[in-house]
Amino acid sequence: MSFTIATSLDEALASIAAGARPIAGGSDLVVGARQGKFDLPAELVAIDRIESLATIDVGADETSIGSGVTHSRLMEDGVIVDNFTAIADAAALVGSPSTRNVGTIGGNVMNSSPAMDTGAPLVVLGAEAELTTSSGRRRVGLDELWTGPGQHSAAADELCTALLLPNRPANSGSAYVRLEYRRAMEIAVVGAAAAITLDGDNIDSIRVALTAVAPTIIEVAGLDSLVGRPLDDASLAEIAEAASGQATPISDLRASDAYRRHTIGVMARRAAEAAARRASGETIAVPVNRALGIGAAS
Ligand SMILES: Cc1cc2nc3c(=O)[nH]c(=O)nc-3n(C[C@H](O)[C@H](O)[C@H](O)COP(=O)(O)OP(=O)(O)OC[C@H]3O[C@@H](n4cnc5c(N)ncnc54)[C@H](O)[C@@H]3O)c2cc1C
Repeated sequence: MSFTIATSLDEALASIAAGARPIAGGSDLVVGARQGKFDLPAELVAIDRIESLATIDVGADETSIGSGVTHSRLMEDGVIVDNFTAIADAAALVGSPSTRNVGTIGGNVMNSSPAMDTGAPLVVLGAEAELTTSSGRRRVGLDELWTGPGQHSAAADELCTALLLPNRPANSGSAYVRLEYRRAMEIAVVGAAAAITLDGDNIDSIRVALTAVAPTIIEVAGLDSLVGRPLDDASLAEIAEAASGQATPISDLRASDAYRRHTIGVMARRAAEAAARRASGETIAVPVNRALGIGAAS
């Protein structure tokens, strides 16, 4: 077994090109190996000391979140909380403080679990993944990146270096809510993110995405009919119905498929309501789950 600690991107990319697997916080990779889900890869390159991967850069048109940014930072960073609030909502729900201190957004995305919490927020905010090799970089949409539970389309020598998000127009808000049975160390039973831009009292744009109800994170289709309408009870009912109708959940120890199909509609509705309230200028603290008492009771 070999373990390299990279201190520069070039060093990491060279190791990965030579066959090493990247490890960021290790909260999926090491924990999964310890639980016997898979063997730890024979060659690892640690990427958590590469400063250029731990930056959040706001450009004229888009914001880049380095893949090495931790959940602890995402839930408190002013740029994220003010502009990409659903990501902060999600990061604040991940695991425990110790998980959030080491777990990264890049690890969350590349682990490719349909239950990942930052996935649905990234989808509704229009994120693309930046994938880098020693010879170049490309951007890929998340619907193209995630191909199944724990599976993605990136090549073995591609490192996710950033998540790239278009800057949000005025009068926009986003939110992520998750059904949870307890308040810590819980993986989403189901979850939903919404991003809304308002034109006065009416919806100018709306996207909703769902967690843990399909083999990958999915975006709810067919919501364009809501544009130009207020987010009233009728619109919210349509969102809930579309979310439940498009979900294809499994039954497991934690919930039946029927329960997941029902509750995903409730979560989608709540996410849309919170996103619209934020879009209209109201401050709802991060995470929405705690601020509005959604999920496990205190
Ligand atoms: C107790 C506990 C609770 C948890 N709770 C939650 C939760 O509530 N919600 C949730 O979503 N997750 C949860 N997780 C899972 C995990 O913490 C997150 O998915 C975390 O974001 C993973 O990041 P990491 O940096 O630790 O990834 P790692 O474990 O380092 O890597 C995960 C995978 O991604 C690959 N990888 C990492 N970085 C890159 C990169 N930049 N480019 C390419 N591939 C890369 C690795 O090779 C590996 O295959 C929990 C984990 C634990 C142990």
